[in-house]
Amino acid sequence: MRIVIIGAGFAGMYAALSAARLRDIQGASPEELEIALVAPEPTLVIRPRLYEAKPETLTAPLLDVLKSIDVVYVQGSAETVDTKSRMLQVATAKGTRKTLSYDRLVVATGSRLFRPNIPGLAEHGFSVDSLDDAVALDRHLHSLADRPARNGRDTVVVAGGGFTGIEAATEMPARLRAILGKDAKPRVIIVERNGAIAPDMGAGPRPIIEDALRKVGVETRVGAGVTSLDETAVTLSNGERIEAETVVWAAGIRAAPLTQQIPAERDNFGRLLVDQDLRVTSVPGVFATGDAAKAACDDAGNFALMSCQHATRMGAFAGNNAAAELLGVPTKPYHQKAYVTCLDLGEAGALFTRGWERKVEIVGEVAKKTKHEINTVWIYPPRAERAAALASADPDHVTEV
Ligand SMILES: Cc1cc2nc3c(=O)[nH]c(=O)nc-3n(C[C@H](O)[C@H](O)[C@H](O)COP(=O)(O)OP(=O)(O)OC[C@H]3O[C@@H](n4cnc5c(N)ncnc54)[C@H](O)[C@@H]3O)c2cc1C
Repeated sequence: MRIVIIGAGFAGMYAALSAARLRDIQGASPEELEIALVAPEPTLVIRPRLYEAKPETLTAPLLDVLKSIDVVYVQGSAETVDTKSRMLQVATAKGTRKTLSYDRLVVATGSRLFRPNIPGLAEHGFSVDSLDDAVALDRHLHSLADRPARNGRDTVVVAGGGFTGIEAATEMPARLRAILGKDAKPRVIIVERNGAIAPDMGAGPRPIIEDALRKVGVETRVGAGVTSLDETAVTLSNGERIEAETVVWAAGIRAAPLTQQIPAERDNFGRLLVDQDLRVTSVPGVFATGDAAKAACDDAGNFALMSCQHATRMGAFAGNNAAAELLGVPTKPYHQKAYVTCLDLGEAGALFTRGWERKVEIVGEVAKKTKHEINTVWIYPPRAERAAALASADPDHVTEV
């Protein structure tokens, strides 16, 4: 029997760990139940940190962890999935193809930034969505030091005033000063289509965010969108033209394209609809998890968000349940009552909220310490030691804060 997990993000990593954990508990051998993980690289990209400087350092190796728990790593990208014959084709970077059959499939392919068809965006827009994108932005920021000093060189426009846009923008003045010199006067502007910044965060945390933006010197334009850009300037829907040689697109994400190959219902973000066990109900043998799935978190009508916090725990449930079905033991319904957010606000500290109503719990330097701990410890893979790795993936205890 074989479980194939596609994707080595937070959801895929925890799906592998928890499937291996249940196999171990049930005393099944890796020959009786093979667990294979397919991903282009055997590394975890620490996506929530990609707004930081030195993005090339923001990955963690997975090969030793996977080996320690007898999970087979298959290098490549899943290109096609045939859910009738339960086969997938994996394309490698060398141009070869490999066919894999599965008894249970866990789709953990995550999400990617949605780039609308705006003139100039494809050629001149940057982002902090993937490792390559973040590295390209970092290189560009460093190249600004070689350009003549002028308004546009020192100006960064961040399109999108949600979670990612705010973190990218508040980090930017310090990043630019580190590159252009401490006397540089960087200008950072968030452009948000909605009438207020942080539209999803609600009224409680907003004054703290607005105050932090003022402190770090980030300007905002609300109620307007970016309509075009080129190498030197951005034009907004209200007619304003801003000289800016750097535009960071941070507005909107969608489930990764592979989800489109699963013949099932999807939401507006392209996420596969799943039941409480994270099964794609209409397609036998297929589970979906993390940013690739839309799952209910509780009985109060809350659904998992496209977040690391949800992806990690959903991964643990999906892996456990895929293994449980094959090992003939009961599955565990996914549930995630606790929900917190920790928003980095650059040199103005951070903001920690609890609950779906986003009650502000900690701010400033104290919240920044929590953010640092989340970003440098909590979200990294477990040690490559069998017992510790398996113990880290008990679905009932993963990211229950
Ligand atoms: C800048 C930024 C800041 C963020 N901040 C936070 C935060 O503070 N808190 C928070 O909770 N979340 C945050 N997030 C969101 C968080 O990173 C995602 O929700 C999380 O990464 C989702 O995990 P995942 O495992 O579902 O997908 P991903 O992390 O996207 O991983 C998907 C994996 O699947 C692989 N893959 C995709 N397609 C294929 C294929 N066809 N074949 C093989 N492999 C494939 C990818 O290579 C990758 O390894 C942030 C995101 C960004 C970009």
